[in-house]
Amino acid sequence: MLLRLPISMAEAQECLAEAAVPIGGATLVWAVWQRDGFPELAMSLRDLPDANVIGRETLGAAVVLNRIDDRVPDVLRLAAATVGTGAVRRTATVGGNLVGSTLRCLLPAALVLDARAMVLESDGVHETDLAEMMAKRPLLVGLRWRDPIASAYRKLPAEAGGPPPLVVASALHVDDGAGIRLRVAVRDGYDVVSGDTACGTDTEQALHALHTTALGDLSGEAWDVVRRQVTGLLDDRGSA
Ligand SMILES: Cc1cc2nc3c(=O)[nH]c(=O)nc-3n(C[C@H](O)[C@H](O)[C@H](O)COP(=O)(O)OP(=O)(O)OC[C@H]3O[C@@H](n4cnc5c(N)ncnc54)[C@H](O)[C@@H]3O)c2cc1C
Repeated sequence: MLLRLPISMAEAQECLAEAAVPIGGATLVWAVWQRDGFPELAMSLRDLPDANVIGRETLGAAVVLNRIDDRVPDVLRLAAATVGTGAVRRTATVGGNLVGSTLRCLLPAALVLDARAMVLESDGVHETDLAEMMAKRPLLVGLRWRDPIASAYRKLPAEAGGPPPLVVASALHVDDGAGIRLRVAVRDGYDVVSGDTACGTDTEQALHALHTTALGDLSGEAWDVVRRQVTGLLDDRGSA
C-alpha cells in the first residue's frame, strides 16, 4: 500500500482522482485491511493545513481526538473526551469518527452546533449538511459552525458488552432573528434524533416545545436526561 500525504487541496484532489482511500488514525481500518487486504493507495490528511484547524467555529477532519481542547465549544470537547480509551483518542481522528465509525460520539455534538461539513470532491471543496455527509461518505476536510452561547454534553456510563450508552448534547444559539434557539440531539442505541425550538426565559415551555419534535419519542429515562441537561443549560444562561 502506498500512503499519500497531500499538503494542499490540489494534491488531495489528485489523490481523490487516483481513488486513494481516506485513512485517519487507522484504529478501525487496520484490522479490516489485515483481514481483507490493503488498498493499493491510501491518503491521510494529517499534513493538510485545512484538515488540522482547531477553533471556536471550525475543526479539521485530521485532528486527533485528544487534541480537541477548550478552543472548541464545550459540547465538542466533552464528546471527544469520552470516545473509547485514551489509546483510541491518541490516534483516532474527527473524520474517522464522523464518517467511518458506527458509534459517532461526535455526531450529536456536531448536530447541536448545526455544523456544516466541508468535503472535497473531484471538482473542489463543497459545504454540505451532516445528513448528506453520512449518506455519501465523501472525503471530509472539516466542520464549520457558528459559536454557540453555551453548550453541554453527557454520555451515560457504558456497560461492558452492552448497547451503546445514551448520549445527550445541547446548545443555545443566537438565531437569525436575534432570538435564542435551543438544539438538542440524542444518541439512543445507534440512532441519533434531534430537535430544536425557539427559546425564551421559560424552561418548561422550551421543554414542551422540544417534546413535540422527534425527541418526544424518546423513552422516559432518556427524556429525563434531556430535561436535566436543558434545565441546567438554561439556568446557567439565566445566572450568567
Ligand atoms: C476500543 C475502541 C473503543 C471505541 N469507542 C468509541 C466510542 O466510545 N465512541 C465513538 O464514537 N467511537 C468509538 N470508537 C470508534 C472510534 O471513534 C473510531 O475508531 C475512530 O473514530 C476512527 O477513527 P480513525 O481516525 O482511526 O479512522 P480510520 O480507522 O483511519 O478510518 C475509519 C473509516 O473512516 C474513513 N475516514 C477516515 N478519515 C476520513 C475522512 N477525513 N473523510 C472520509 N472518510 C474518512 C476511512 O476511510 C475508514 O473507512 C472506538 C474504537 C475502538 C477501537
